[in-house]
Amino acid sequence: MLRLPRFALEVPETVGQALAALSTSEARLLAGGTDLLPNLKHRLETPSTLVSLHRLAALRGIALDEGARVLRLGTGVTLATIAHDATVKVHAPSLAEAAASVASPQIRRTATLGGNVHLDTRCRYVNQTALWRSAIGGCLKSGGTVCHVVEGGQNCVAALSSDTVPVLVALDAELVLASLVDGSEQRRTVPFARYFRSDGLRHTERARGEIATEVRVPLATGPRRATYVKWRPRATIDFPLVSIALRFDLDGEHDEAVVTDARVVVGVLGSRPRVVSTAAAMGLRMRDETLPERVAEAVWRECKPLENVPYEAPYRRTLLRVLTRRAVARLARVGAVGAT
Ligand SMILES: Cc1cc2nc3c(=O)[nH]c(=O)nc-3n(C[C@H](O)[C@H](O)[C@H](O)COP(=O)(O)OP(=O)(O)OC[C@H]3O[C@@H](n4cnc5c(N)ncnc54)[C@H](O)[C@@H]3O)c2cc1C
Ligand code: SF4
Repeated sequence: MLRLPRFALEVPETVGQALAALSTSEARLLAGGTDLLPNLKHRLETPSTLVSLHRLAALRGIALDEGARVLRLGTGVTLATIAHDATVKVHAPSLAEAAASVASPQIRRTATLGGNVHLDTRCRYVNQTALWRSAIGGCLKSGGTVCHVVEGGQNCVAALSSDTVPVLVALDAELVLASLVDGSEQRRTVPFARYFRSDGLRHTERARGEIATEVRVPLATGPRRATYVKWRPRATIDFPLVSIALRFDLDGEHDEAVVTDARVVVGVLGSRPRVVSTAAAMGLRMRDETLPERVAEAVWRECKPLENVPYEAPYRRTLLRVLTRRAVARLARVGAVGAT
């Protein structure tokens, strides 16, 4: 049995108290613990203090704001809540789909949106026991000096395997971060498209003393079709080994709908999501029979999976093409959703 290392636990009641607790020690934030605690058991990190977000009522809640132009979600909301929430299902159905696809019902009831956004990067050579890792001499992320995925590589390419992040990038969502500056609480807002870095060791723009408090999703002003697709060996529990978030904004309805804006975002390639060029889709009718293959071709051309997670990279690349083609074809058949 893998045991947790010893740590002190702080359980603040307000965001201000949590920020103070975070600034006074080498502390880590603990939300649902479904990613952090297994990582502690694997000795991927051994923080002296965990600051629990469990009692922060300010991080919970889902609401429409700014005249129903923005969907606000607290980072402490569980994935189960997001998956079932009527407002999310109507206004951001692809986010509900992504949340519903994470792990298992038990984990989704504990896991939070903030934890999913800040999920540590994953790699087949590091998400192992300490004994397993020591047998191959560690790597850049686990106390060694080499990368086992990219020979001679000096950058960690461990994969961002969050299910919600590609969707949040595709929806042009933003993250609100709180920090203490000269003793007073400050907030800054960062677009998800700019929040992730290509270094798997430190893959977000979050500063050590910051807490993510809220996710803001701008809503469609016209007809929109969006979805999220992931592939994993088993239909439940498993992390995605490829994932694609799609969003098409349209002019017109049904068969006449024309693509005016589109986002295609691919996950699990490296430490940040890949935004694929959508030029091939612009101006086409949603029902244009060449659209699925055009988008799939762009994904295949621009996305080259690495051997950083299980299953061969060429197989995962082929899957990306097939799943994208099927997802676009499915979206072309359904009516527009999410329009507000
Ligand atoms: C068996 C199993 C299967 C899984 N399958 C999937 C899957 O299919 N898809 C998937 O995406 N994930 C999966 N996960 C990972 C995990 O369950 C989810 O990503 C979950 O959403 C993490 O949320 P949490 O609240 O438990 O985060 P925690 O484990 O508490 O925290 C994760 C990280 O986020 C940081 N953090 C948490 N909240 C904040 C905040 N508000 N501000 C700043 N930093 C914060 C923590 O400090 C920590 O570094 C799986 C986990 C397990 C054990
Ligand atoms: S990508 Fe390389 S450095 Fe990063 S965890 Fe994997 S083996 Fe280690």
